[in-house]
Amino acid sequence: MTWRQILEAGKGQLKAAGVAEYELDAWYLFEYAFGISRAHFYLCAKDEETASSEQREVYETYLKRREAREPLQYILGEQEFMGLSFYVNRHVLIPRQDTEILVETVLSRHERKETSILDMCAGSGCIAVSLAALGGYFCIMGADISHEAVFTARKNAARLCGSGTVRFRESDLFSAFSAEERFDVIVSNPPYIESGEIDALEPEVSRFEPRTALDGAGDGLCFYRRLCADCTRHLNDGGHVYFEIGSRQGEAVLSLLEARGFTETEIIKDLTGKDRVVCAGWQTG
Ligand code: GLN
Repeated sequence: MTWRQILEAGKGQLKAAGVAEYELDAWYLFEYAFGISRAHFYLCAKDEETASSEQREVYETYLKRREAREPLQYILGEQEFMGLSFYVNRHVLIPRQDTEILVETVLSRHERKETSILDMCAGSGCIAVSLAALGGYFCIMGADISHEAVFTARKNAARLCGSGTVRFRESDLFSAFSAEERFDVIVSNPPYIESGEIDALEPEVSRFEPRTALDGAGDGLCFYRRLCADCTRHLNDGGHVYFEIGSRQGEAVLSLLEARGFTETEIIKDLTGKDRVVCAGWQTG
């Protein structure tokens, strides 16, 4: 078989499995399995006979995983976010482009490098690590309930901004934090999908991404309730919170924040015009 035939067969296999972006996905897996760049493929390799059956087996394995609707990013082990390449695996949510607006908002509103920042429910660490790498803040911490997620986040920090720059801690929300620990900014992309809606999502999400990173209980708001209460105890005076939200949750989360005494509440839209982030200020004086 030639390289071209192998690639075409892969596309056909993924198309039959109902993969929406089957051409692109077959190409990425092909490139990853064989190490052939697009330029090399088109300039000289496409009609060459292929040799190694071992490599072809590897490609077959990747295709089978994608056919079963495992996300491409878990197979490749990486996802880009804020122009940086993050390690991902089945223990962490795949970073979404939707979340970039949260990072961009914090970067543009907090220019002081001394701003202390906590990323609660950090997952892969994409928010905390992007803030450290792109904002150069001196004091950034991330926390997550999952041991494996914390391990992955530490790897991402070491890869993208040097180990020790961002400290990650295993914690069920603030359970592993002392009463004295306070921050200027607390950001979070908590689980916020209504439990009953998860099974209706794409199989890539519902079958493969960690449910603990998605499930916001009955009405999807469980973690906002806990965060709104707990953040009041861990913010410095004049501090701010930034939470990612589902597009229909804006008003409900603003009410939760206001009920706890937060001020300057605001909803920020993403690039597609949907409500995506809520932010609020904390003043004790
Ligand atoms: N935005 C993600 C999705 O739509 C959910 C992220 C979350 O629950 N924090 O699948």
